[in-house]
Amino acid sequence: MSEVAKTTGRPRRRQSDGPLAKGLYLVATPIGNASDITLRALHVLEAADAVFAEDTRVTAKLLALHELARPLQSYREHNAAEAEHKILARLAEGQSVALVSDAGTPLISDPGQRLVRAAVAEGHVVFPVPGPSATLAALAASGLAGERFLFAGFLPARATERRRVIRELEAVTATLVLFEAPPRLGESLADLGAILGARQAAVARELTKLHEEIRRGTLADLAAHYEGREVKGEIVIVIEAPSGTPAEAPAGALDARLTAELARHPVKDAAAIVAAALGLPRREVYARALELRRAQEPDDDA
Ligand code: SAM
Repeated sequence: MSEVAKTTGRPRRRQSDGPLAKGLYLVATPIGNASDITLRALHVLEAADAVFAEDTRVTAKLLALHELARPLQSYREHNAAEAEHKILARLAEGQSVALVSDAGTPLISDPGQRLVRAAVAEGHVVFPVPGPSATLAALAASGLAGERFLFAGFLPARATERRRVIRELEAVTATLVLFEAPPRLGESLADLGAILGARQAAVARELTKLHEEIRRGTLADLAAHYEGREVKGEIVIVIEAPSGTPAEAPAGALDARLTAELARHPVKDAAAIVAAALGLPRREVYARALELRRAQEPDDDA
């Protein structure tokens, strides 16, 4: 439910990290709250020889909030070839070039893949400057298993194509993370529920913004809530893996988590913590926890 209202705090002045090594910097930027920018990102945006942005107005606003004024050049789908040429020429001269998208991590459902491939092919260094990502923010806050997940980008807009893609996703034994546009949210949730069945899910909307909302429930509950309702903002859908798939947690993850928790807690508590963290049935996790505890105990017959 809607619970968070955030303000953009005045940023602290960063320390200069000196000149940048030559190469291409992929700089993550906030997905809403302008304070969610790293000190390193600010330094790179200040110190790079050139900054290329998906939307120069959006990035200029962000930089202004952080008291930076830099000339910005455009790198977007429609001018990618031309901009790529300019960027590669700068890299060949030994310059540092920063690339940012409108929000979040460049290349994650955003332009830049061609450029990175070309830069790598020409032997340039590519530096990730990690930070906000709608995918990871939604996954973390969903409460669903983050040990193993598939990010599937945007679902297709057309119903037949969307249903085909959802049927493909049905077999995936991992948490699913999808982007969706507001007008299609209700019908996509209904299709997801009809095809994937009674799985738990979360709709994460307007993360880090004033009207942040994370609504959790089964796909059918969420479809019932959103169908026919006018929804605004940016949306990520997170869906639990099919039930009964221990693959929700990769082999070894269960035992590793249990062993760590058993060192600190009694069996019952350790099982409850791990079952919640991995999204596994509590009874099964408890049974495994008992086995592990017994194996740890000294053998009475010895
Ligand atoms: N590269 C970006 C990232 O790493 O977050 C994602 C870019 S993709 C073009 C934009 C989509 O990301 C939106 O349509 C929405 O599905 C999701 N998104 C971006 N910001 C969001 C936010 N604040 N809350 C929820 N979803 C968001």
